[in-house]
Amino acid sequence: MTNDFSQIDVTVVGGGLAGMAAAFHLAKGGLRVVCIEPETANRDPVGESLDWSAPDLLAALGLPMARLLDEGFATYKRHVTLRLRSGAFEHYEPSDWLTRPPFNVELRTIHVDRTKLDAALRDIAIKAGVLWLRDKVVRVERSQHTVTSVVTQGGAQISSQWYLDASGSTASLFPRLFNLPAYEFGPKKVAMWDYFPAPLPLEGTTLNADCEGPFYMSWVWQIPINPGTISVGYVASGEAIADKRRQGMSLPNIFREQLDNFPELRPFAQSAAEVSPRTTSFSCRAYGNTNGPNWLVIGESAAMVDPMTSNGVTAALRHAEEASKIIVSSRNDRQLPWLSRRLYSRRVLYMANFFNSGIEKIIYDWPVRNRIGALRAGDVYTIPAWSMNNIYSRIRPSGIVSTFLFGAFLTTLRFAMNLLYFFCARSKPAAPACATS
Ligand SMILES: Cc1cc2nc3c(=O)[nH]c(=O)nc-3n(C[C@H](O)[C@H](O)[C@H](O)COP(=O)(O)OP(=O)(O)OC[C@H]3O[C@@H](n4cnc5c(N)ncnc54)[C@H](O)[C@@H]3O)c2cc1C
Repeated sequence: MTNDFSQIDVTVVGGGLAGMAAAFHLAKGGLRVVCIEPETANRDPVGESLDWSAPDLLAALGLPMARLLDEGFATYKRHVTLRLRSGAFEHYEPSDWLTRPPFNVELRTIHVDRTKLDAALRDIAIKAGVLWLRDKVVRVERSQHTVTSVVTQGGAQISSQWYLDASGSTASLFPRLFNLPAYEFGPKKVAMWDYFPAPLPLEGTTLNADCEGPFYMSWVWQIPINPGTISVGYVASGEAIADKRRQGMSLPNIFREQLDNFPELRPFAQSAAEVSPRTTSFSCRAYGNTNGPNWLVIGESAAMVDPMTSNGVTAALRHAEEASKIIVSSRNDRQLPWLSRRLYSRRVLYMANFFNSGIEKIIYDWPVRNRIGALRAGDVYTIPAWSMNNIYSRIRPSGIVSTFLFGAFLTTLRFAMNLLYFFCARSKPAAPACATS
């Protein structure tokens, strides 16, 4: 059977989390949508630890937290634990006062099993009427700033009124095509991870930090993605991994060596003997001006935030919701309204810059961490970062005043973090905090 693309209103490029969520919202808004995705399933699902704002965004897609937990797609996340190599640790959890009016914040969030979540979400999108095309976009045609069609590997040429680029951080199709300004944060990083049977039911994320020796921090996550499985992953700078490779270490050996550094992870290191971890590399970056007269960019194609922020899923779902709202409300117009699309891009950039620069300056880099101690640095980063996401979810900035007020607030916080970094870097470096604590 051949597909008929002549009646399509919106073309969504990429069927990851952002693409699926946007396709669903658009179809629910009454538009005819095609979502183009080459893969049958997420090839290397990480399994994520979600921010406190994510459950509401998932519920809006028909996936409430209770269902995800009941069906074994998720586990509760009640806190984050930062554990240092010395054995010192601290639990971070949102304060009780957030549960009371006017905040009414749900203090529980979840970790998700992406294989199960993606299958459920794809099903929901298709049931909502999304045309799912298993193909790959190989060319995007444009006329000045307007996208006119996309051409797929399978030979289809699809023209529609509106386009969403949800092609992820590696492809970033529209930002590259339109040569959008890119803002980079920190060095290129490598992540390697694997899955293990969960030894005990766990209800929190653990970050095991190695901040001895090289000053740029590396860390190992422990995320219980479903009641029986734990995802364990190591993140380090590309340079640190390249150094170990030059010393002749294989990737499985590098992975095992890191797990071996932490007493709690040693049992995983032993059972990792036979396996080769999944590996990816990424750069934290955000694009500016992620909009055009008939297109918007969403998810990691617009902005890649560091995994330690636990903000990628929230950002992807939030972009999907906001971008589809702009398209649905412009369905009878010839172009997307200039102001709405510009404000959308500003919000994407403000949030990505805030999270990326905060985590780089306060946690990854050495000055603040070594001066005030890694556990206290955790507080300095976590309190504003978690609060900003909650405030964003409450006020849902969309107009000119709320967007710029929110942006000004984020910029002030960024400035304060930069100032702290500057003063800590100027003073004599303290001994590595985790070596002494
Ligand atoms: C190591 C790691 C750990 C992470 N941990 C967390 C975490 O704990 N918490 C959290 O919130 N976030 C985390 N994230 C981030 C989170 O996984 C992402 O933010 C989220 O999955 C992004 O979804 P997306 O849809 O934007 O991109 P993707 O999931 O990358 O989807 C893009 C899709 O586009 C498709 N595509 C690409 N090119 C084309 C093309 N030419 N034509 C058609 N389709 C195309 C791809 O096949 C892919 O399916 C982590 C990320 C990494 C790398």
